[in-house]
Amino acid sequence: MIVNYHSHTPRCGHAEGSEREYVEAALRAGLVTLGFSDHTPWDYFDRPYRNERVRMAPEELPSYADTVRALAEEYRGRIEILLGVEAEYYPKYFPRLLELLRQNGIGYMILGQHFYGNELGEPPCGRPTDDPARLAGYVDQTIEALQTGLFSYFAHPDLIRFTGDDGEYSRQMRRLCRAARELDTPLEINLLGIREGRNYPDERFWRIAAEEGNAVVIGCDAHRPGDILDFESEKAALKLVEKYGLDLRARIPLREI
Ligand SMILES: [Zn+2]
Ligand SMILES: [Zn+2]
Repeated sequence: MIVNYHSHTPRCGHAEGSEREYVEAALRAGLVTLGFSDHTPWDYFDRPYRNERVRMAPEELPSYADTVRALAEEYRGRIEILLGVEAEYYPKYFPRLLELLRQNGIGYMILGQHFYGNELGEPPCGRPTDDPARLAGYVDQTIEALQTGLFSYFAHPDLIRFTGDDGEYSRQMRRLCRAARELDTPLEINLLGIREGRNYPDERFWRIAAEEGNAVVIGCDAHRPGDILDFESEKAALKLVEKYGLDLRARIPLREI
């Protein structure tokens, strides 16, 4: 791996280490590009709400952006440092989010759909479900996200933990993979899932992505600096790529937001 677009900072409430430590780890790992994509804040302007263990607060965004930009300047010529966020797609709040991100000069977004609906009162997508309506809802919502044309890639698209009928899983995920391919949006094999033995990467999903010819990237999803040096998980991801003959891209064009 020479490029990683998916790294966090302690601002999200569940990551550790300073931004500088992530950069130094990336240099040791031989990366040429390190992207910060911390969990985006959401401005739920119509209610006082804060998901403290999941994401930074809107008022933390300027210092996040300043810190990453300063490091990009300081390390120029040694490593490219990019400023992004990992965001869900919550239709109700999305225009407001874009405004906030643009005001702060955020360069790119990756899609990480951690909750259904608009998050408020909706369960996390990682909770096991055998409900076909939940699965279809996840696919509908994330396709709509990709249709905005603003997400550079789709992080852990196989996050949803569907325990129901395998045929239904395949039908819905094929619909998602086709849409991603038509919209030219790469799918991410997520190393955090491998590192922590989560339900993703889900092999059922990656078999379909291979059949549909999706472009694929590997994302470190670093929540501590050492995660960037986690070569074991990377090896496991490469095995998956080889097993299904996935179309792995080392670098992808980022979409301006
Ligand atoms: Zn996280
Ligand atoms: Zn992440």
